[in-house]
Amino acid sequence: MRKVVGLLMLLYSFGFAAYLEELKWPKGETFLTFLEKNGLPPSIYYSLEREDQELAAEIVAGVRYHVLRSEDHSLEQVLIPIGEELQMHLKKGADTFVMEIIPIVYQSEDLVLSLDIQHSPHSDIIKKTNNHALANEFSSSFRGGVNVRSLQKGDRLVVLYHQKRRLGKQFGTINIDVSMIETGKKEHYVFYYQESYYDAAGKELENFLLANPVNYTRISSPFSTKRLHPILKTYRAHLGIDYAARVGTPVKSAGSGKVVFVGNKGGYGKTIEVSHDSSYKTLYAHLNGFAKGLSRGKSVKQGQLIGYVGNTGLSSGPHLHFGLYRNNTAINPASVVKIAKNSLGGKELKAFLAYSEGLKQKAHNALTQKHSFVVEENFEYAHSLDKKML
Ligand SMILES: [Zn+2]
Repeated sequence: MRKVVGLLMLLYSFGFAAYLEELKWPKGETFLTFLEKNGLPPSIYYSLEREDQELAAEIVAGVRYHVLRSEDHSLEQVLIPIGEELQMHLKKGADTFVMEIIPIVYQSEDLVLSLDIQHSPHSDIIKKTNNHALANEFSSSFRGGVNVRSLQKGDRLVVLYHQKRRLGKQFGTINIDVSMIETGKKEHYVFYYQESYYDAAGKELENFLLANPVNYTRISSPFSTKRLHPILKTYRAHLGIDYAARVGTPVKSAGSGKVVFVGNKGGYGKTIEVSHDSSYKTLYAHLNGFAKGLSRGKSVKQGQLIGYVGNTGLSSGPHLHFGLYRNNTAINPASVVKIAKNSLGGKELKAFLAYSEGLKQKAHNALTQKHSFVVEENFEYAHSLDKKML
């Protein structure tokens, strides 16, 4: 219902003859080829600022984007998400199309799911919610080491999580606050804390550790998913970390995995992408060149030379742009690049225990509830859609 209201509002603001299409970004499509396909001048891309051109290289194949067409089917506006916070907004101006980066308007939902385990947590969550992302995230929350063996019929699971909804549909990553499995009257908890999973005693469980990809002189630009320029009032994002280093400095794979991309990638210039397991991927951009023999499909070890720092693509100076993606969503590499798991102690542990106690109580209470339900919803969304946002 909310979705229908939203769409009607959009159509209303453009006259009823205009119509909205939801499409999936095709594999191999770039912002440039998209412009070309739609008969738009490439100057739209080339006149963008450096950072915006870099962002255009972040469009993910398969992402849902929206096109508004007028009565005669000609393109009026296009909205393409870049990450989870911002989107490219292409719209018809007085004589040509213009592009701006604007925030994604979404609704945030806090949810609780509580159910009997019939088969396995993963398949039961899918059966109940049809939400594969949630099932995967629940499984990975337990992957790091909380030992839950020999599940039996009648055991239960509880998960407190939040997700985003855009135009009525779920989008972006699932964020779990606490996962719990009750088996044999014992409750096993996993908490999400400081961008990682911890057990109830404050021991870090996440076992994906990355090595530094380069010996750098300084971080020339940190990670951000949404930043408002204080004077220009424009939005920007930087979906990776820039490490300043001399041209030719060796670039090493931050983890073991498989090379999934070697080549030119728009504003990123010479780029390598390495997939580490089903959920993590790293990206190395603005390279000067690639290591000998490196090609798509090759396996690489953590610390293995894969390329050299350069200044290719749209780069303000020699640096490595290092990106980290979890389920195709950019996350801050600084939260994962470390050498050992963390065990909280002292003040930190105290703060963690205080934080986790409330969640534990909530999850425990949910054990007696039979169904998933929405705890809190932000209904502002439906009213905030306006002409500017489409
Ligand atoms: Zn960068």
